[in-house]
Amino acid sequence: MKKATTITSIFIILLTISVETVNVSSSSPLLHENQVYEESAGGRHNKIEQEHAHEVHCSRERSRAASKIIEEYLVPFMERENYQLPKNCRLHPDKNIFRDQEEHKIHIDINEWRCGYCKKSFRAEKFLDQHFDNRHYNLLNVSHGKCMADLCGALHCDAVIYTKTSKTKCNPAAAGRNRHLCESLADSCFPLNGVPSAIRLHELFLHQFCDAHTCSGKQKPFVRGGRKQKSIFYLATGALTLVLLPVFYLFVYIIQRDMRSRTQELRRIIKVGRKTKPL
Ligand SMILES: [Zn+2]
Repeated sequence: MKKATTITSIFIILLTISVETVNVSSSSPLLHENQVYEESAGGRHNKIEQEHAHEVHCSRERSRAASKIIEEYLVPFMERENYQLPKNCRLHPDKNIFRDQEEHKIHIDINEWRCGYCKKSFRAEKFLDQHFDNRHYNLLNVSHGKCMADLCGALHCDAVIYTKTSKTKCNPAAAGRNRHLCESLADSCFPLNGVPSAIRLHELFLHQFCDAHTCSGKQKPFVRGGRKQKSIFYLATGALTLVLLPVFYLFVYIIQRDMRSRTQELRRIIKVGRKTKPL
């Protein structure tokens, strides 16, 4: 009885803590500190943008998609192998000119994004992107950086950006080019003359990204899965355990209480029976 009560109270405390944490993260005190700005694409900013448009020929959106794909479908396997990408590999995070800016994005709320350099707030990520283009273009490390968006063909960015696969005709020449780029990435990032983990990851990279560059339509990209699905699975299992465990202990507690009251009742009946017998 005592044990069951202690366990249930521990669960109640745990649940309260988790609810508190969710509340804190969703209602940040920073939310009302600054006025939420919204930069328009037109006006004076357009002029600045045009002035520097020639400097960066790299799509921020596609670079972001490429980075996300690497993070989700490659990094988990590299972490498992404890593998570091060589500096000359184009998948290396340092080769993303937008990396520093992306790391200076603060996502406060669903409708609030903040610039990590000047702390200005915006209603949507695209306005923050425009702000970076207009105000912090000087922070782009163009000389040393490379454009991640250029790897999109090899990394299947379109499959991620446009989730509903459009039934466009497959171009064998384009598929061949993408496959070639993909295989060259495998060679430079996971050299076959390198450590055993590099050889294993080379094989994995071909399966995960390069094999799908064919017009047969049989192979799909990311066959080995990624981080996202796993994290959703763990989250679901965790939530289910959190919900089911208190129910289980409540069930045990009710059964124990029921049995106890029954034995007490039985004892009372026996006692009463003994007392009444001599009469
Ligand atoms: Zn800023």
